[in-house]
Amino acid sequence: MSSPFIPVNEPLLDGNEKKYLIECIDTGWISSEGPFIKKFEELFAERVNRKHAIAVSNGSVAIDAAIIALGIKAGDEVIMPSFTIISCAAAIVRVGAIPVVVDSDPITWNMDVNLVEEKISMRTKAIMVVHIYGLPVDMDPLLEVARKHNLKIIEDAAEMHGQTYKGRPCGSFGDVSTFSFYPNKHITTGEGGMIVTDDQKIADHCRSLRNLCFNPEKRFVHEELGFNFRMTNLQAALGLAQLERLDAFVKRKRDMGHYYTEKLGSVKGLDLPLPQTSYAENIYWVYGIVLKEDVPFDAAQAMKKLAALNSGSRPFFWPMHEQPVFKKMGLFKGVYCPVAERLARRGFYIPSGLALTTNQMDKVIEAVREIFHN
Ligand SMILES: *Cc1c(COP(=O)(O)O)cnc(C)c1O
Repeated sequence: MSSPFIPVNEPLLDGNEKKYLIECIDTGWISSEGPFIKKFEELFAERVNRKHAIAVSNGSVAIDAAIIALGIKAGDEVIMPSFTIISCAAAIVRVGAIPVVVDSDPITWNMDVNLVEEKISMRTKAIMVVHIYGLPVDMDPLLEVARKHNLKIIEDAAEMHGQTYKGRPCGSFGDVSTFSFYPNKHITTGEGGMIVTDDQKIADHCRSLRNLCFNPEKRFVHEELGFNFRMTNLQAALGLAQLERLDAFVKRKRDMGHYYTEKLGSVKGLDLPLPQTSYAENIYWVYGIVLKEDVPFDAAQAMKKLAALNSGSRPFFWPMHEQPVFKKMGLFKGVYCPVAERLARRGFYIPSGLALTTNQMDKVIEAVREIFHN
């Protein structure tokens, strides 16, 4: 009999999650009004060293609100990595602004910070920093460029709960920083996100945008168009229980990452995640693998082979400058990002969720070894 399929992610919900959820039901607080929201926001802000945290319905709309609150408008340019999730570029495009993409560093898979300054034009308003897969972007040179050119920083820390850059929490670097609590992130609320900032005005604006821009004096009279981006008390209850265990989760992810690296290090043809840089230790949000040039199949084929051996996997991001939706809008004409293009075609990640057992990891390792016949 074949062993059961190993999913690419399963969350771990065996702390206070059930207790807090029952509290929501027992007290009747299930909407976005409810005590867990404020508690979760306060503890989260404290954890990332920020003055304000605004809980929202997911990590994508957190970026939408951040872009609007920073005043990014039609015709403005925002520099960002090509190798990221669509949410980053979508938020820029939706306000009529223009995403200007930068290629990736082949080793860290993050935006190559050396390529940023040459992309700055008269219209550049901000740099969107996205920490990818487990290692933070090298922030110091980027902050220097931003200071020199008077640019805002939007920091997408959706994959970085508990990570630090030179000892400072990720999520503490942006004029606005955002997080996601999707079930494959280090902590989850099912669906959910968080905006953090030290700026009172930005925080107030994000709170207003989250809640349809209701008017504090005349509730149903609106000065601006907002959204319903509210998080529910049920989600915040989960979030609080998860946040209590963030350090343990990060430790477990690091242990898992080290275990995979130890067992897969000898397999020829693979580029594995960098365990550390001078500024951070990898937290392995996901455990990515990039196939070297001499491997005769690509990521899509590798994932098919793994699936046949009952191991889940997911492709890497597909670069923004190669997205049909943006091509149709006339964006990114003549743009090439060879590293991002290669990562998209040669990269994928293997099961890395917090509920993954060592026994399951051994089966995944066996499957990877088998497709490389060594
Ligand atoms: C997950 C993720 C998001 C989006 O978060 P959702 O909660 O799924 O909307 C945004 N940015 C990055 C880098 C992510 O990994």
